[in-house]
Amino acid sequence: MHQGFEKDYRYLLSHIIPSNLLSSKRVEKIRAALEEGDRLSLIREAYLSIQELVAKGYMKRERLDRNGDTVSISYSRIDRNEEITLVMGSGEWNRITGGERRSGILSSVLAGIISSLSLNDTPRTISDRIEEILSLSGKVYPGSTAKLIILRDVEMADSVANENIKVLSWDELSANKAYRSALTSGMSHSFMRFKEYSSGVTVFPMEEQMKSLLLIPLVTKGIKWGLVEIHLPTEKPPEMEIFYNYRIVAQGILRLLENNATLEKMVAIDRLTQIYNRNHYEQQLPLEIERANRNKMRLAFLMIDIDDFKSINDTFGHDIGDQVLRDVAQEIKNHLRKIDYLFRFGGEEFVALLPGAEKESAMRTAERIRDVVARTVKAADSRYITISIGGSIYPDDAKDEEELFRRADRALYRAKGEGKNRVIFYEEE
Ligand code: GH3
Ligand code: MG
Ligand code: MG
Repeated sequence: MHQGFEKDYRYLLSHIIPSNLLSSKRVEKIRAALEEGDRLSLIREAYLSIQELVAKGYMKRERLDRNGDTVSISYSRIDRNEEITLVMGSGEWNRITGGERRSGILSSVLAGIISSLSLNDTPRTISDRIEEILSLSGKVYPGSTAKLIILRDVEMADSVANENIKVLSWDELSANKAYRSALTSGMSHSFMRFKEYSSGVTVFPMEEQMKSLLLIPLVTKGIKWGLVEIHLPTEKPPEMEIFYNYRIVAQGILRLLENNATLEKMVAIDRLTQIYNRNHYEQQLPLEIERANRNKMRLAFLMIDIDDFKSINDTFGHDIGDQVLRDVAQEIKNHLRKIDYLFRFGGEEFVALLPGAEKESAMRTAERIRDVVARTVKAADSRYITISIGGSIYPDDAKDEEELFRRADRALYRAKGEGKNRVIFYEEE
């Protein structure tokens, strides 16, 4: 069944729209509009009610047609085969939607792009999505283009870089005064004419037809992610509504980066100890081997195992055992460098990867870790905890990751055999 509404919006509001599915605020407004009787407010209420039903998943927007001076927007009901079409003059359409139109569409497009983020996403697909969001800029102001600058310390920053997405360190970014003030001022945007800006160091060179620049910082909860740089073909600061829509675009990117960071954390972090988990170990080890090859550097591998942990559980219970795991992980982590990795490999076993570490310095680090755990970690404030460590060095001791692991594991086995609470590195026998 199909119903088109052109004249009788009053009938639509009082008989067709299912008011039981609407918010009480909307129902109240509909009642007021029905009493007041002005055609424009009836159309506005019809449109907003249906938008609310769309947002709640009861209806779907099918199409918008323009025919001369007439605008028709068709909706279908999800649960039945029914269509409703709102027909109005384009003047009426402009008045009821006003600034809402563009941002409404933007928000729903953005929501679609962002909500489809999944655990299987790769940096490649993330950067495709960022591109998709950036391209919405052209819808906000025809001819404008948007680019993204991400700060280097944001996870996955390097791997999403491309023509429109640049990755800069804080120092590089703040060398540009405009960038720096946009990111530190807390201002939601800063607008500059090309002439004023052109003296700065440009990361994205402006094309000639572009006349001004808008910078929108991406900051949430004190974290600086970077900024969106919009090039505009006009010298006049855009109207507030346009600014607002650019902010929605920037918010979309921010949400995408945040959601992705949360997802990455979920798949890579061990819940008990809050260090990397085995899944992340399996991802990271090949990358670190590759990096060592590329940079002709070494990679030290430490296999770490808590001594007599079973008896900790047996004596003090599982909760204390868990606390010991957290404490040991924390102590180890505190004594590694920022560039090192620590993974929970299994129950009470950990792996540390030390990029660029020679055997001697890796042995010193391992010994320091062993020592600090033995001196500081206690179960239930009484029994001291010790760990044993086996180490191996790539490429000196092993030709690939599998061998590297086996040799460290073998060395650990010897450390256990020789009395525990000690560090042994692989040596040719
Ligand atoms: P060794 O000195 O030779 O390493 O002896 P061990 O007792 O530490 O080694 P074993 O592998 O026999 O025992 C490991 C124990 O770790 C067994 C298991 O109950 C415990 N474990 C594994 N995961 C967890 C965990 O998440 N929490 C707690 N509390 N215990 C765990
Ligand atoms: Mg053990
Ligand atoms: Mg073990």
